[in-house]
Amino acid sequence: MFFNQNPLQQDPTMTKDPVTQYPAQDGDGPSRSEQTQPKAKQWPMHLRILIGIGLGLAFGLCFSAVGWSSWVLDWVKPVGTVFVNLLKLVAIPLVLVSLVDGVTGLKDLRKLSSMGGRTLLIFLMTTVCAVSIGLVTVNLLRPGDYLSETKRDELRERFASAGSGGLDKAEAFKEEGPLAAVINIVPENIFHALSHNGSMLQVVFFALFMGIAIMALPASQTNMVRDLFGQLNRVILQMVDMIMVIAPAGVFALISSLIADFAGDDPGEAVELLGALSVYALTVVVGLIVMMVMVYATLLRLFGNYNPLKFFGIMSPAQLLAFSTSSSNATLPVNLECAEKLGVREEVRTFVLPLGATVNMDGTSLYQAVATVFIAQAFGHNLGWADQLTIVLTATLASIGSAGVPGAGMVMLVIVLQSVGLETAGIALIVAVDRILDMMRTVVNVTGDAMTAVLVDRWMGAKSMDKIIEV
Ligand code: ASP
Repeated sequence: MFFNQNPLQQDPTMTKDPVTQYPAQDGDGPSRSEQTQPKAKQWPMHLRILIGIGLGLAFGLCFSAVGWSSWVLDWVKPVGTVFVNLLKLVAIPLVLVSLVDGVTGLKDLRKLSSMGGRTLLIFLMTTVCAVSIGLVTVNLLRPGDYLSETKRDELRERFASAGSGGLDKAEAFKEEGPLAAVINIVPENIFHALSHNGSMLQVVFFALFMGIAIMALPASQTNMVRDLFGQLNRVILQMVDMIMVIAPAGVFALISSLIADFAGDDPGEAVELLGALSVYALTVVVGLIVMMVMVYATLLRLFGNYNPLKFFGIMSPAQLLAFSTSSSNATLPVNLECAEKLGVREEVRTFVLPLGATVNMDGTSLYQAVATVFIAQAFGHNLGWADQLTIVLTATLASIGSAGVPGAGMVMLVIVLQSVGLETAGIALIVAVDRILDMMRTVVNVTGDAMTAVLVDRWMGAKSMDKIIEV
C-alpha cells in the first residue's frame, strides 16, 4: 500500500527510540507495514497520482471541447468531492490522537516549549522570506505593465463581485483585539472544536493539554489511556492508507472537474483569459519555485543536513495531493505520513504539521505580495518602500489568518490591499487564474510545513536523517 516501503514505519504501540527512530519491538503482533505488505509489486504512489492528474487534464479538456463539461460536473466531480471529504474526515481525529500519542512518548516535557518556540521562529522567518521573494519578483518582472487598459476594465466588470466576499472577514480581522488570536486557540467546548475543520489550532491545544496531563500522572494510572491513543493512532493511519488507494481516481476527478469548471464549454475563452494574465501567473510561479528550490533546499542542506532531492522525492505524494486539492487541511494526513517517511520523530511531526497547516503559509503569503503589487501596477499606482514594508507585515499576518482551504488566501488578500490603500475591487483582476495559482501555492505551503518539521527535528537533537533513512 501507500507508505509500506517506509523503512521508518513505526508501530505506535511500541516505545519509540528518539535516536535511531526505530521502534523497539514489543512482540505485540505484526506492525502496520507488515499487515499491509503488498502481494504484487505496485507503481509508486506519486506515479499513480501523477497519472491521475494527467488523465484528468486530458479528459477535462476533451469533454469541455465537445461541450460536455456539465456531464463532468454532474458525474465525475462527486468522486473528487468524496475523496477530499474522506481526507478531511480523518484529519481532525488524526491530529488529536497522534499528538496525544506523540506527547506521551516524550521523555522530557520541557522539550515541548523549546520545540514550540523553534517551530514558530522558523515559520515566521520563512514567511517573511517568502513575502520578500514575492516582492522582489513582482518588482523585477512588473506583470501589471503587461495588462492592457481595455483588458483591465473588462476583467473588472466581469468579476466585479469577486472582492466583496472577503470584506466582512477583513473587517472582523481588523476589529479583533491584539490578543484575539491567542484567545481563539483555547476552545470553550472541545466537541465544538472537533466538529469544525477550521478549528485545528484548538484541537492542537486540547491534545497538547491532554498529553501533558497524562504525563503528569503516574504511568501505572494511565497505561490504558496511553495504549488507547497509540492504538487509535494506528487505526487512523490505516484509514489514511485505505483512502489513498482511491487517490488516483480522486485526483482524476478533481482535475477533470476543475478544467470543466474553468473552461466550461468554451476552452478558447479560458485560454484567452489565461493569456491575458499569463505574466502575472508566471510571476507567482517563478516566486514559488525560487522559494522551494533556493530557500527550502538551502535550509535543508545547511541546517537539516538533508539531501533536498531525497526530501522532494519523499514529499511528492503530499505535494501532488496539495496540488490536486488546493487544501493544506485535506493534505495533512498524507503530509504526516510523508514526514514519518522523512524520518521526523512522531512528537515533532504531530506538533509541527497541524500547526503549520493553519499558520504557516509561505506560498500564500508570497502570492499575496505579488497579487497586491500586480493590482497596484495595473491601476498605475506606485508603491513606495513604506508600502512594500507594510505588505511584508500584512501579508505575513494575512497568511497566518488564512485557513488551509481552497481560496482562503484570496479572501485574506483584502486585508493586504486595504493596508496599502488599494481598492478591494482590484481582486477582480486576478480571480480568473486564482484556482490554478491556489494549487501551486498550496504545494509550497505543505512543503514548507514538512521542511520546518525536518529542521525542528534536527534542532531538537535528531541524528542526521539521511543516515537514518539509508540504514
Ligand atoms: N489553499 C491554500 C491552502 O490550503 C490557502 C490559500 O492560499 O488559499 O494552503
